[in-house]
Amino acid sequence: MQYRKLKLEVAVHNFQYTRAKNAAGAIAELSKNPAAKLVAGGTNLIDLMKYGVMAPDRLVDINRLSYNAIQKESGVLSIGATVTNSVAAANEMVLQYQPLLSQAMLAGASPQLRNKATMGGNLLQRTRCPYFYDISEPCNKREPGTGCGALKGYNRMHAIFGASDACIAVNPSDMNVALVALDASVQVTGPKGKRNIPIAEFHRLPGKHPELDNTLDRREVITGLLIPDNAFSKHTTYLKVRDRASYAFALISVAVALEMEETTEGTTIKEVHLAMGGVAHKPWRLTAAEQLLKGKKATVENFKMAAELAMQGAKSYGHNDFKLKLAPNSIVQALKTASGIKA
Ligand code: SF4
Repeated sequence: MQYRKLKLEVAVHNFQYTRAKNAAGAIAELSKNPAAKLVAGGTNLIDLMKYGVMAPDRLVDINRLSYNAIQKESGVLSIGATVTNSVAAANEMVLQYQPLLSQAMLAGASPQLRNKATMGGNLLQRTRCPYFYDISEPCNKREPGTGCGALKGYNRMHAIFGASDACIAVNPSDMNVALVALDASVQVTGPKGKRNIPIAEFHRLPGKHPELDNTLDRREVITGLLIPDNAFSKHTTYLKVRDRASYAFALISVAVALEMEETTEGTTIKEVHLAMGGVAHKPWRLTAAEQLLKGKKATVENFKMAAELAMQGAKSYGHNDFKLKLAPNSIVQALKTASGIKA
């Protein structure tokens, strides 16, 4: 079954454009106009506006805010919200201390898009469910209460974990999967001041409100990302399985970060962080599989047991049944690559 072509008959919607001089100005714009949206790279928002999926009355450009630094201090790497994905992925400190993040970002989109897309924007990018983009189709995320076209429709790219009857969409970002595996947090500022949101609490599951992608207050501005030091840099892998080698969203992706040690029993996993993309409305942390692997020998048998455990509770919707097999195979493959185990 093929999904039919998107209808592009979109009504003209005029909007105003303004440049914020500072965070306070951006917060003020968001506070006084519920239909205002921030824009930085615009690689997702502008598409959504062209398709008529989003229709902000006012775009507030935050490119001139000074959130463009990458620095390391007191065991934490911080990356400003307006740093582009290309710049962050090629940064020496990111490559040295958090190579998983670089690997994931380079797996995303295309070089042209990565040159424009920002760290903050990538956190907020919206699902690529085709029914969300087609304004002639029902979609609870775009228009709450209209139904979910994908539930009984063409759902090949859709979720196998954490979905609801209201929405089975997935988060499309590669970067977000790595950030979850790295225990990052999101720095924001808003009318009530500054706060850090752990990345695991930033994105939401759909529940009854799939229109909400995250826990950000509408008036808050993302200022940066914080990633704590770890001992994973020698054993990280971001495996992305997709329909073509570039410029395609993940069917399944797996972020693996391992700390290995040599013991009298052989090569052992001292610490492990695992997350999957393409499977849920938010990046999906594999906590049970991590617990199983911690302290165990790095063997294919243990990797298979961890993958089996990770798949508990998975549910497919027809066109995406193949993910139930592809996902555990991908977990095992990514663990083999990160650990260097050949067999
Ligand atoms: Fe809309 Fe979510 Fe259903 Fe897609 S899966 S049609 S985004 S409600």
